[in-house]
Amino acid sequence: TRGNFETTIAALEGGVRGLAFASGMAASHCATMLLESGQHVLAGTDIYGGTYRLLHKICCRSGISVSLVDTTNLANLERELRTETKMLWLETPGNPLMSITNLRQATQWAKQRGILTVVDNTFATPVLTRPLEMGIDIVVHSATKYLGGHSDLLGGAIVVGDPDLGQRLYYTQNATGGVMSPWDSFLASRGLKTLELRVREQCRSAQEIANYLAQHPRVSRVLYPGLSNHPGHALATEQMDGGYGAMLSFEVAGDLAQAKRLVESTKLFRLAVSLGAVESLIEQPATMSHASYDRADRMKFGITDSLVRLSVGLEHPQDLIQDLDAALAK
Ligand code: PLP
Repeated sequence: TRGNFETTIAALEGGVRGLAFASGMAASHCATMLLESGQHVLAGTDIYGGTYRLLHKICCRSGISVSLVDTTNLANLERELRTETKMLWLETPGNPLMSITNLRQATQWAKQRGILTVVDNTFATPVLTRPLEMGIDIVVHSATKYLGGHSDLLGGAIVVGDPDLGQRLYYTQNATGGVMSPWDSFLASRGLKTLELRVREQCRSAQEIANYLAQHPRVSRVLYPGLSNHPGHALATEQMDGGYGAMLSFEVAGDLAQAKRLVESTKLFRLAVSLGAVESLIEQPATMSHASYDRADRMKFGITDSLVRLSVGLEHPQDLIQDLDAALAK
């Protein structure tokens, strides 16, 4: 059953080998286990808080160091490059600021320097972005999110385009044991059958919600690559396949307490850190998904206290807008 899911996700990502894990973090951890003591990782500043924690608080125990860089400007990579840099870790759209990184250029830069490239493709899914086709070495997923799509499974996945790399990762996975269970594998395979339909519809709703928020007087900033004023809009239009994703963030014109009140006031948007399912979710990165960042790093990277993140589900977009409208009025 696990093999079926692995074959399908490998095909969707255009890879030759898929590996299914017990969670997204187990998949990410397996990828980092390719590194050895003394080596260095470059990672984006706009990444999942759990990945930040894995790199900074767990990998460091094995003598692996990490530097975070704003990967929307690849000139930044050169500044942090060391002789021991062996991995480049990217998310696009980034989390939680929806920053867009140029995957073709990042691949080119890394290949010339013998650096392995990893993309956490959880937000975009293979429906919208297929990093292996752009030369990326390793795609990582939290299958808990869009791939499963119904908030009822835990899982992760790795897909690669090189069989030897796939074998090395499989060896580590088999040796450490974080595999996806048969039941979760069944649910993940079933989720994949509707992945494209769900993602396309959710993208359409997210665009409507972003347009609504962009004109709301109590909202100071909307971060959605589908908005023409988003700094990554042109690149996303070129790199993403017919949609800008169903994740978006916005800043309320207020402080941490007001943002907290907002996320606790919606009724259709349920308050939770997860994402990517048919049910819409709302959360506050500073106290939830990115609480594991050091506060100083959050401030430095623009993850402000008044930031709110939405995962847009399959409810009617007008109902979702009404829900936000009522909560903003509060
Ligand atoms: N990657 C991203 C982008 C995520 O948002 C998450 C979870 O929120 C993970 C990885 C970790 O996945 P999991 O919760 O399945 O361990």
